[in-house]
Formats: sequence, C-alpha cells, structure tokens
Amino acid sequence: MSVRVRYAPSPTGQQHIGGIRTALFNYFFARAGGGTFILRVEDTDRERSTPDALEDLYATLTWLGVEYDEGPGMDGGYGPYVQSERKQIYREKADELVITGKAYPCFCTSERLDALRKEQKAARKNIGYDRHCREISPDEAAARIEAGEKHVIRLKVPLEGKTVFEDILLGQTGRKNKDINPDPVMLKTDGFPTYHLANVVDDHLMKITHIMRAQEWIPSGPLHVLIYNAFGWAPPAYCHLPMVMGKDGQKLSKRHGSTTVSEFRKAGYLPEALVNYVSLLGWSYDDSREFFSKNDLCELFSLEKINKSPAVFDYRKLDWFNGQYIRMKNPEILKTDLLPILMSDGIISDPPSPEQIDIFNGAFPIIRERLKLLNDITPMLRFLFADPGIGNAEDAIPKKMDAAGAAVALKAGLELLSAATEPPVVGDEDACAAWDEERDADFRRAAEEKEWKIGAMLQPLRLAVTASKVSPPLFPAIRLLGLKESLKRTERLITALENM
Ligand code: GLU
Ligand code: ZN
Repeated sequence: MSVRVRYAPSPTGQQHIGGIRTALFNYFFARAGGGTFILRVEDTDRERSTPDALEDLYATLTWLGVEYDEGPGMDGGYGPYVQSERKQIYREKADELVITGKAYPCFCTSERLDALRKEQKAARKNIGYDRHCREISPDEAAARIEAGEKHVIRLKVPLEGKTVFEDILLGQTGRKNKDINPDPVMLKTDGFPTYHLANVVDDHLMKITHIMRAQEWIPSGPLHVLIYNAFGWAPPAYCHLPMVMGKDGQKLSKRHGSTTVSEFRKAGYLPEALVNYVSLLGWSYDDSREFFSKNDLCELFSLEKINKSPAVFDYRKLDWFNGQYIRMKNPEILKTDLLPILMSDGIISDPPSPEQIDIFNGAFPIIRERLKLLNDITPMLRFLFADPGIGNAEDAIPKKMDAAGAAVALKAGLELLSAATEPPVVGDEDACAAWDEERDADFRRAAEEKEWKIGAMLQPLRLAVTASKVSPPLFPAIRLLGLKESLKRTERLITALENM
C-alpha cells in the first residue's frame, strides 16, 4: 500500500510555523516513501476563509519548495483540491447518512437553539444540542424537506459505548460517546458541509493512508471515527504531531516573536534555513546531525523518529541556521538576493549604477561572513553609499568616559590613520588583509601606551565612519570607504564631541 498524505489547511489566516511544520512532515513522509502528497484547501467556513489567506498559502508553499502531486486541475491546468468546489459531493454523502439512518435532518430554528443555549447557560449545563429532532420519523422529515423547510443534517452519535482511535505516536485515545458533542452538524442550512464531514469524506475519497496533523485536532478524533463508522469506512492511521512551544513552555504565539512565514520571509530568512530548522521541531535523525537539505529530508524522513514531547522554537537557533545557510549559498546567487534589498531600502538606485555595483562587490566578501539575516545588509552597508551624518554622538562615548575623553581617544585614532599608507585596491586580498592587520597593530600599541581599552579607541571611530553600531569589521570598513572620507568623518565627530 503506498503512502498518501495531505496538508489540509483552512485559509483563515497567514501560514504559520505550526502549519508549515505539518505541511513539511507530510511532504517529506510522502517523498521518503515514494508516496503521494496532496494539498487540500478546507475552505468550507465561508465566513472565516479569505482570498488573502489563500494567496499566502500558495506563496508560502512555492517559496518553501513544497510541491503537491495531485489535484483536479492537474491534467489540464494545475490546482489543488478545494472543498468549496466539491459541495455536491458532501451533500450526497450527507444524504446517504440520512438514508441509512446514521444522520437526521434537524429543523430547529436559530431562535430555538439560542434559547436552549441561554437556558443551559443559566443552569450552568452547557451540554449542547438536546437532540430535539432525532426522533422525527423519516416520513415526516421527508415531507417537511419537500415543503421547503430549512434544516441542517446532524450525525446520530450513539448514546452508549466508547469510541477510540489509535495514534501512531500517542497510542490509544478515546472518549465515551455520551461525552461527544451531541449530534454535531454535518451539513449546514446553506448546503455547505461542516469541517468534520468534509474532512472525513475527503480523506476517504482521496484514499489518505495517514493523517498527520497538529495535536489540537485530537479532540475531534473520536467524532471523526464515528463518521467513518457511520459510512462503514475504515479510518486512516493517525499521527498527531507534538506541540510547538516558545522557550517559556507556552504554545508558540505572537508574544514570542514572528510566527507567520511571511514575517520570516520579509525579515530576510532563507527558505532553506526555515525548512531545515522547522523539520527539527519534533523530528530528529540522530543525536548529532543538524543540517538537512530539502532533498536529504525527502530521503531520510520517517515517522519512527518523530518525538512525542513538545518541541521548543528557538529563534536564536534559527538565526544561527540562517547565517550558516547564507554562507553556504552560492555567492553569485546570494548577491542577487541582497541587491534588491538595498534597492528597496533606498540605499542604492534601481537599477544600481556601475559604481554602486563596484562598491557592493568590494564589501561583499566581508559582510557575507557577518550576515545573520539578509536584511542586515542595509544597516551594515548604508555608510558606504551615502554620508550617514554623525548619527547619535552619544553612542560614540565609551563606558566610563565623557564626551571630551571620547574626543581625545578619537584624535589619537585620527593621528594613526593619517599616518597610515593608502589602502590597497579591493580584490588584492592578501594586501588588504595585511593593511587591516597593520591598523589593528597600530591601534593596539597606542591603546597600550595610553593605558586605554582598545574598545575605547574603536567605538568612537566606528561611529564616526559608519554612524552605526552594526557594521562590517572596522578596518575593512575604513578601507572600503577610503582613507580620505574616513578622516573627514572622524574630524567631524571630534568637533561634535568637543562641542557637547
Ligand atoms: N482544516 C484543518 C486545519 O485547518 C485540517 C485538520 C486536519 O488536518 O485534519 O488544520
Ligand atoms: Zn432540531
């Protein structure tokens, strides 16, 4: 039997970490077993589904490189399964359940149900629907439907017994039938199915072998099994994935930081890094290996290695992965990721001038070693393309020093740089490295003589040259900017400090 799995999101919001973890696990499981991965859009909740969420879903999967194998448009066009386009199927299936006596039409008005809810609330007994229409005879029901009376279709949940299901990860779970929501709606008055009916019908019709989804769906498990039973179908295997938590042990949420894929994407994360890191949320290959490309995961993923215990989302670890993937990336391709960021941030023109490209290429080898996020490029390189001004002069003053002291330290730096040889041209790597080392030695010697900390000399100089606390290493930054301009900016900051 070959594996058939699906990712079945409801397009009611942006794709988030938990969702794509489900998508990736299903996708890798299918690939590793030579199976089929299906995308199914569960948009039967018409009020909550939005076109933006749908667009975000497709954009996210494309960005991550998750391709689905099957869909109604696959022969001619291309498209996943979309439940709102399959309304007729669910309607027929709901009717089938009515005919076999497993479900029944309910004619209760919303006024009646509201009153019932209020009554139960007052009595502190929120037991739900009172099965008012369960015993209406099939003939009477048929007549009322014929007469055009509005109705929903409800499942006849058995009044006794227990419904259990087997979870690959968690073992057997179940619930007494009397504790299951009394006779939940399968088909709404507008003819749309509820999530439960559409989900079960599709999993059966699409011959899904394994349901891998978030643990929040465990409570729906027994009800779904009852629906399978009502149709006389066998349920697929279940595997509910461990929760994703923040470091404080609470379910991952906005409070912890970004959670939607689009936020990570905008912040300059690479899809390779996100795929790798998210795949380790609840899965591991062995105790040591951390790096997995998408192709590796398509080979190595297995259900046996999914953990039961909750996974912790560590933003710093993701940043670390991202930095590693930036450095693993082909340099020319990386450049094509970075240049548009500088353009859209207004640091360089669109298209860039040949001069700007030269400056960028000169700085590239240095910043490549330092980037954690692609977007770090802007604060790092701004100083090279335009005069950033003085910035916040306070930032130039080292701890335990005042403005006058910082000015003195900066003057000493100015002297050293004025005496330095002209920096070598970009591209002559050995000569550049030698120049940087000479400066480093000069500054260390001077700091020692004057009994300053080296940081007290470098901090004001960094601010003078770049007007920023984040920048490439200082001496390469000075070399890239040119000695003349660096001296000019240094003098300017000295004056500002002296006048503070
Ligand atoms: N539409 C459900 C969701 O949004 C699918 C749950 C399932 O995978 O069965 O998560
Ligand atoms: Zn009713």
